[in-house]
Amino acid sequence: MEIERDTGMHTRGGVITERNNDFCTVRLRLPAGVITPEQLVGVARITEKYGAGTAHLTARQTMEIPHVKIADLEDLGRELEANNTPVGSEREEIVNITACPGTDRCRLANIESITLAQEIDKRFFGKNMPVRVRIAISACPNSCLSERLCEIGITGVQQPIRDPGLCTGCGTCVNFCKEGALVVKGGEVILNREKCIDCGNCIHICPFSIIRGEPPAYLVTVGGKRGRHPMTGRPLITVTSRDDLHLVIDKVITWIYRKAWDGRLLADQLDEIGFDTLKKDVFKSISPENTVTGPELS
Ligand code: SF4
Ligand code: SF4
Ligand code: SF4
Repeated sequence: MEIERDTGMHTRGGVITERNNDFCTVRLRLPAGVITPEQLVGVARITEKYGAGTAHLTARQTMEIPHVKIADLEDLGRELEANNTPVGSEREEIVNITACPGTDRCRLANIESITLAQEIDKRFFGKNMPVRVRIAISACPNSCLSERLCEIGITGVQQPIRDPGLCTGCGTCVNFCKEGALVVKGGEVILNREKCIDCGNCIHICPFSIIRGEPPAYLVTVGGKRGRHPMTGRPLITVTSRDDLHLVIDKVITWIYRKAWDGRLLADQLDEIGFDTLKKDVFKSISPENTVTGPELS
């Protein structure tokens, strides 16, 4: 006899049982935390109807409606769907993708991040996984979205190049570098690649255009974690094209899906499940001219 699977709303990852288990908190799917005025109005109306009068903003750029009665879950789910703010996920699956404002608004950004998060969401949101997979994008190494503490982190980087030319040794660029990677020696600037984290801040600052940038690129890190014993993810690869980035994300997700064990965080099993083999495989699949070798973030 075939056993029928329970697919009711209470089984969804975005439905979280509260301390008083007659009630649930319902988390929404809002990739990159972007919400339109119409959706906001809809969420306000739905919150008023099914919740206890307030909504809550989460750490993963989404919203949740607290104190929903179990009996109301199915109706609430339908209304959220119709409002284009469907139920989110929060279990062993791909959860809300987060992103900083990126080149849309931030002056320090090296990459566009909002539509990138939406593209990744479209392909992978809610996919069942052996472990919870958080994906975050910071458009520069300032890492406002703490992407390196996520299972998959994407950081926008840009490598500076010291162009031949007449450096006056004015020190303007030196003052801009927070890493101490630029020094003036013998009347001209020297770039220390060991210290440089490719934040790109010094590019365009030179009044004589002696520092220019390589094309902006995406650094992918894997296996970060928060919680009791936080750890930053390991650098996997830095790629220059968005298509290649999607290919890399594809490979990492497939690898986690096939290899990771449930019951433990990804960070705690990276070596066991072959991070180095993944790295080699990823490098093989990307054409060398589309990767960047440089100092990796530590
Ligand atoms: S991570 Fe960088 S680009 Fe993104 S908001 Fe922070 S400073 Fe701006
Ligand atoms: S890219 Fe950033 S870290 Fe590197 S030299 Fe320029 S300012 Fe310093
Ligand atoms: S690279 Fe440009 S900003 Fe830096 S010391 Fe030389 S002239 Fe000044």
